[in-house]
Amino acid sequence: MGEPGKPHCGCCGGGEALTEAAACPACGQPGRSVPLRTLQALLAHHSDEALPEGPWRFCDSPACEVVYFGDRAAPVFRKNQLTVRVGIKETAPPHPLCYCFGHSEESLRAEWQATGRLESVESLRVAVKEGRCRCDVKNPSGACCLGDILKAAKAIRTR
Ligand SMILES: [Zn+2]
Repeated sequence: MGEPGKPHCGCCGGGEALTEAAACPACGQPGRSVPLRTLQALLAHHSDEALPEGPWRFCDSPACEVVYFGDRAAPVFRKNQLTVRVGIKETAPPHPLCYCFGHSEESLRAEWQATGRLESVESLRVAVKEGRCRCDVKNPSGACCLGDILKAAKAIRTR
């Protein structure tokens, strides 16, 4: 699997378990670890100020504006400070699911309605397996989107 030393996007390993309490300062929900390189890749105008090393967390509460937070001294980043839409925090379409290949809830639903199939999900599964995804620098959560995609696909198929 993958080249040694190359960061894996987490598809197979899943997210890191949270070892210490790290709650979002805005909504109080615990956040999942997110690599520094994800913030560096997705934050707009980050270059003028050096980002602290972290640890950084991703808040996945749909109603919360905060996307990234760190320890008490670290700045907090809200969704309007990212260069991409955070699908889970958006109420209006499109809701991006896969940032590497551009799939959204809406695109999957449209494919299902047009063809009765979800080929894009199958090709995504292959792409992830072959390591062709860059979720760590494309997906705001820094984690692989495959789980979210499969969940969305299941919801679409069973509707
Ligand atoms: Zn939050």
